[in-house]
Amino acid sequence: MEEQLSEHGSPQPFVVRAARHEPVAPRESALPSREHEFDVETDVAVVGSGCAGLASALFTRWLGDEVVLLEKAPELGGTTLKSAFIYWVPNNGPLQESGVEDREEDFLRYVARISRPEKYDPDSPTLGQSELEYSLYRGIYESAWPAAKLLAERGALPYQHAPHWTDYWHNLTEDKVWNARHLMPAGVNEDQTDGGLIAIRGMSRAATDAGVEIRTGHRVQRLVLNDDGAVVGVVATTADGETVRIGARKAVLFGTGGFTHDADLRDNFLAVPAVGGCAARTNEGDFVRIGSAAGAQLRNMQFAWRCPINLEKAVAGDPDMQGTFAVAGDSMLCVNYKGERTLNEKLPYNELVQRMYDWDPLGCEFPNRVMIQIWDGWSQQHSAKDFFGNSIVPAGVDDAHVIKGDTLAELADNIRERLVRYQAHTGNVRLADDFVTRLEATVARWNEMSERGVDEDFHRGEREVEITVFGGPLSEEAAERANPLMRPLDGDGPYFATLLSGGTLDTKGGPRINASAQVLDDQNEPIKGLYGAGNCVASASGRAYWAGGGTLGPMIAIAYRAAQAIHEEPLRDVGASRSAVA
Ligand SMILES: Cc1cc2nc3c(=O)[nH]c(=O)nc-3n(C[C@H](O)[C@H](O)[C@H](O)COP(=O)(O)OP(=O)(O)OC[C@H]3O[C@@H](n4cnc5c(N)ncnc54)[C@H](O)[C@@H]3O)c2cc1C
Repeated sequence: MEEQLSEHGSPQPFVVRAARHEPVAPRESALPSREHEFDVETDVAVVGSGCAGLASALFTRWLGDEVVLLEKAPELGGTTLKSAFIYWVPNNGPLQESGVEDREEDFLRYVARISRPEKYDPDSPTLGQSELEYSLYRGIYESAWPAAKLLAERGALPYQHAPHWTDYWHNLTEDKVWNARHLMPAGVNEDQTDGGLIAIRGMSRAATDAGVEIRTGHRVQRLVLNDDGAVVGVVATTADGETVRIGARKAVLFGTGGFTHDADLRDNFLAVPAVGGCAARTNEGDFVRIGSAAGAQLRNMQFAWRCPINLEKAVAGDPDMQGTFAVAGDSMLCVNYKGERTLNEKLPYNELVQRMYDWDPLGCEFPNRVMIQIWDGWSQQHSAKDFFGNSIVPAGVDDAHVIKGDTLAELADNIRERLVRYQAHTGNVRLADDFVTRLEATVARWNEMSERGVDEDFHRGEREVEITVFGGPLSEEAAERANPLMRPLDGDGPYFATLLSGGTLDTKGGPRINASAQVLDDQNEPIKGLYGAGNCVASASGRAYWAGGGTLGPMIAIAYRAAQAIHEEPLRDVGASRSAVA
């Protein structure tokens, strides 16, 4: 295995960033096995090395249990490595110290209201949610801060408060504490582009120091069950064809991410035309198959952490692709293939994508599945920045995704040609014949509304979160306008465009868990010895993206609870007649 020098110059026994095209073991049958010929034995096998896996491994090890961590990719970190690593932690320490009260009741109302609004009942004892959903919300409130605190105290993940972040639904009356639940790793750069790297480095170093055995290049293929049906191990394969059987006396915990990169699962469960996403390429829904083969219920399979992505980068399978979290620019608008503006470009990413999946029952189509972001020279000059999937990049940065034209008509010709190139991936989306005429009318309306600073059509710039989080880089002059997010497009070119599509950061459906992270069977009974955390299991959040950091904060809470429950598991006889690893 390749070694990498730490910043202190000492070698680390694992790779945190490596070539992203190295092969991984091919998929095998997920049917559980009853062979008890283990090559390695431990108390707990943790599968996956993103935030869920590493945090679970740390909490488990710190309670005294032996841990082996298995990672399919040649590198550690999964999607987490790419993230900004904002983590949303209710009732956190800095918040308490500042004297702000973040009551459990307020937290529960906010998350229930937006996770499953169709069921929300403020007068019901569980706010209209099922007992299980409600217990997961409560578990997250109770454990997120103790988990974050412990990770910091042990040096794995020191934090700093990030009160400049705003919850994505702060306009709802249920959101009582909307700008103080956010933490980020201490020492992140100004743009937070290295948050995930700092977190994975810190947690994996702490795991090694604590004695967690980390094995990269090991793809877990199936579970090993004992005669009582309890999970007592896993079978993994390596890229060079080796089979390794790991016995786990107490439990196996999966933290293997979602199914973004399995087109079949995506097409069947997401039920929308999602071309892909920016999860780690190795997130192919392995736990959907392995968990269901062991009898786990699948839940939330229709939900994902949604984010606009660049169509061309998604089709190319670019492993470094990032979500277009902010559709940047003020003299910028998005239109569909007809030249119509159909949405508020500054919506939080999870919500923006849901507009991109609007269904037209008359045309029998998803008219917004490809949205064309169009901007002028002003936005090119003032909103260019090479970070987090920003379409508007500065000179010198790869801009193959940018389509150009000196006039709107020339731009349209070039967009038309580019769309034809991708028609096999878009259900044949092409520009309408009268696109230019309609685009000119759309731009005229936009310019007229921008002069007044009021988006009468889609309310762009009316919510604070749009300005503080989703404005993207803007000129200093923008703050002086009535609506900083609206500016007329230049009458003269050049003009620029790119093709956006609705994608995922990752999916968030999978085997159902309870508030102790135990995977549940079809009777809602825990499958003995089987646990899950992170994006590989059904998320408590349902359709919602609670806030920036709403994936990682809850994830460490569940990891913390998993470790406590696993610690109470009996030591099972893994009955090994051991054979050496070949
Ligand atoms: C650009 C970007 C920025 C983001 N920023 C934020 C943010 O600031 N805050 C936030 O809350 N969220 C953010 N997210 C989302 C967040 O990164 C993910 O939700 C989170 O990292 C998922 O963690 P995880 O541990 O569940 O999965 P992952 O981090 O994806 O880890 C899963 C791991 O499991 C491994 N694996 C898969 N199958 C197997 C197998 N069979 N055997 C062994 N290993 C396996 C994979 O290789 C992978 O390493 C961002 C996402 C992106 C793409």
